[in-house]
Amino acid sequence: MPTTDVTAKATIAYQAMLEVIATAEPTVAEAIRKELADQRGSLKLIASENYATLPTLLAMGTWFSDKYAEGTVGHRFYAGCANVDTIEATAARHAEELFGAQHAYVQPHSGIDANLVAYWTILSHRIELPALEELGVKSANDLSEQDWETLRHRLGDQRLMGMSLDAGGHLTHGFRPNISGKMFHQRSYGTDPATGFIDYDAVRAQVREFKPLILVAGYSAYPRRVNFATMREIADEVGATLMVDMAHFAGLVAGKVFTGDENPVGNAQVVTTTTHKSLRGPRGGMVLVDDEFAADVDRGCPMVLGGPLANMMSAKAVALAQAKTPDFQAYARAIASNAKALAEGFLRRGATLVTGGTDNHIVLVDVATSFGLTGRQAESALLDAGIVTNRNSIPGDPNGAWYTSGIRLGTPALTSRGFDADAFDRVADLICETLNATTAATASNGKPGKAKYEMAEGLTSRVHDEAHELLDANPLYPGLEL
Ligand SMILES: *Cc1c(COP(=O)(O)O)cnc(C)c1O
Repeated sequence: MPTTDVTAKATIAYQAMLEVIATAEPTVAEAIRKELADQRGSLKLIASENYATLPTLLAMGTWFSDKYAEGTVGHRFYAGCANVDTIEATAARHAEELFGAQHAYVQPHSGIDANLVAYWTILSHRIELPALEELGVKSANDLSEQDWETLRHRLGDQRLMGMSLDAGGHLTHGFRPNISGKMFHQRSYGTDPATGFIDYDAVRAQVREFKPLILVAGYSAYPRRVNFATMREIADEVGATLMVDMAHFAGLVAGKVFTGDENPVGNAQVVTTTTHKSLRGPRGGMVLVDDEFAADVDRGCPMVLGGPLANMMSAKAVALAQAKTPDFQAYARAIASNAKALAEGFLRRGATLVTGGTDNHIVLVDVATSFGLTGRQAESALLDAGIVTNRNSIPGDPNGAWYTSGIRLGTPALTSRGFDADAFDRVADLICETLNATTAATASNGKPGKAKYEMAEGLTSRVHDEAHELLDANPLYPGLEL
């Protein structure tokens, strides 16, 4: 079906949907309508967000939501799961083909869940079985209370190493607010203070010393590519399992921008991801594993997860099928080339970027050095101007994790709207103009404020107008009339 026909049909579907929902709760129907208007009307530069396609969105709202299907394909704890089996097997097959993975587990409800499933997969595979053998029993059912006690201690006594938070790692890579920081002995590796890049020799030295069971690579706020082949060599030296969390950049892997040593699949034994960031699918997660881990990962439900969300797995299958197309590969290449254009736009206007640029989808602007602002002030001032970003720590951040010194920008969402390199250069211009005209205001205690700021008069409406020109030229869901 041509795109215009798809959009015309989606218009009918969504108009009907809103009317139907309004009969039960009009406030919800109104909020859904308003959210589309808000998303259409703002420059979304949040690096972790995107706009799912209409077929993906529509696949989420079905009666598959009503079905219980604990277990996995062909092995369910509930009756009547034939159609869920079709959905889950289709999504898994698309994921395996798209990424060239040996085995895909498509149930995780989010990225955090995917990581928890992955950690327990690795622990189950590497800790439980040797312990059972040593204890001279065949199955967990034969374990005595004392054996369980020993096992609990062994499971709780393992080591994990991931990238530090201020270098761009994620909370789930062993940090205290997340369960991963409580269940493992944790250490982290950072980046070279001079360049901002990962220093693989330094990582190797730390890994040799700490000897983790799990080495985690992957990030949420690192604007550079990672050599996963080198990370695997480092992991192998100490017998660690390499797990790559590609939550942020899965779209660049799917779209064949990251290949060879930069492709986590094939280099890491376990790869986790979200499906809703650069991959542009529904909100959810996935785990891709080498065959060795397949049986363990398939026990993710009920080990860690509740009943699978078959409606979300339907949408994953749709999005993964779309990600196999040449169109998606062109989209992924545009994400990366647009990020370069955005970075160059900042550099040309004198701003300072962490690592001096980007070669993925992220640009991390040091707003303290560039504009004399905290990340908090910059984020708020930009939001006033209709530009949605998020504040982010930079390596060695003097303003801490709450106020921060950076703003993180990403190109996946606006690239989905059709923004090209010229449009991203104008985005850099609007951001620089806004932040140059913003000053830190004094806090009530008379000290330089970390949250308060003042903006030059008339600035916001001028930036708003220019942003709207760009947004109108690149409409979200063009032809969808709601
Ligand atoms: C976003 C993200 C997650 C968490 O994803 P949720 O779906 O929000 O749970 C995990 N890891 C990384 C690296 C991420 O960027």
